[in-house]
Amino acid sequence: MRLSVVIPCFNEERGLAELHEVLCRVLPEVSEDFEVILVDDGSKDGTLGELRLLADRDPRFRFLALSRNFGKEAAMLAGLSQANGELVAIMDADLQHPPELLGRMVDLLAGGYDQVVARRTRTGEKPTRKMLSHLYYRLINKVVDVELEDGVGDFRVLTRRAVQALLSLGEYNRFSKGLFAWIGFDTAVVDYENVQRHAGNSTWTFRKLLNYGIDGVVSFNNRPLRLAIYLGGLVTALAFCYSVFIVVHAVRDGIFVPGYVTIMCGVLGLGGLQLLFLGVIGEYLGRIYYETKRRPHFLVKESSGRPIPVTVPLG
Ligand code: UDP
Ligand code: MG
Repeated sequence: MRLSVVIPCFNEERGLAELHEVLCRVLPEVSEDFEVILVDDGSKDGTLGELRLLADRDPRFRFLALSRNFGKEAAMLAGLSQANGELVAIMDADLQHPPELLGRMVDLLAGGYDQVVARRTRTGEKPTRKMLSHLYYRLINKVVDVELEDGVGDFRVLTRRAVQALLSLGEYNRFSKGLFAWIGFDTAVVDYENVQRHAGNSTWTFRKLLNYGIDGVVSFNNRPLRLAIYLGGLVTALAFCYSVFIVVHAVRDGIFVPGYVTIMCGVLGLGGLQLLFLGVIGEYLGRIYYETKRRPHFLVKESSGRPIPVTVPLG
C-alpha cells in the first residue's frame, strides 16, 4: 500500500537533515512503497536549497515550493493535492510529531478507520497555557457544531477518500482542525508524549493563538451572530420596560433633571455592546470578502520531478 507523507516546512533548514535521517529509518518499516512530499512555505532561510539537495539524492523525497509564505494550512493543502498514496500522513517538519508513531497509526487504519489522529499530552508546557487551552476547548465545543479535541493537531494519517473529501472543501479560510472533524468518517486516536522542538523556533505568538481561537469559532457557524440577536432582543426588552417606568414616573411625579449616572451607564454599556457585535459582523463580512475573490489557496514556484503548474486545481 502506497504511503505519502506530507510535511509543511517554514524556515526548517536546520532540522531537515535529521528529519530525513529519521524518516529513512522509520518509513521503510511502515510501508515498502512510500513518498515524502515536503512543501516549502516560502521560507526565508536555506530550506529550499536543502530540499533541492534532498530530492536530488533520494527520489523518494519530493518537494514543491510555494511562491511566498501562505501559512501552514495552505502548505498542507498543497502537499495533499500532490500526494498519490492510498494512505496519506501529515506531520510537522520539526520532529514534534514523532514519526515512530506512524507504524501504529497505519496499523489502526487497516482496522477500518479513515482517519487516525495523534493526540499529544501537554507535559512540559506552561501551566497557564495548559489551563487556557483546556478552557478554550471546553468553551468552543459548546459553540461550534463539530467536536474539537484538546491536544489533537494536524498529525494524522488519512485514507484516500478522506483526503479527497478534504480537497473538495474549497473554502479560502481554512481552519483545518475543524475541517478534519467536519468531514467525519470513523476516527481513531493514538496518544503520545509531547515533544519539545529540536531546532528552530515555533512561529506561534500569543496574538496568533488568540486569532486562531477566534477563527475556530467564526469559521464553523454563525452562532455569534445569533447571540447578537438574542442579546439585542433582551436589551431592547429591558430598555422598553425601563422606558415605561421612567415615563410613568415623569407623568406622575414630574421631571427630575439628575440622571447622569443612568445615562452614562446606558450610553457606555450599549456603545460597547454595539461595537463588539459590529466587530463580530465585520469578522463574517471579511470572510465573505475573501471567499468571493475565489483566489487560489497557494501558488507553486518550483517543484522536483515533473513540473507542477503555478495554480493547482484541488479535488
Ligand atoms: N509551518 C508552515 N508555514 C508557516 C508556519 C509553520 O509550513 O507559516 C510549518 C512548520 O515548518 C512546521 C509546522 O508548520 O513544520 C508547525 O509549525 P510550528 O512548529 O512553528 O508550530 P507548533 O509546533 O508550535 O504548533
Ligand atoms: Mg512545532
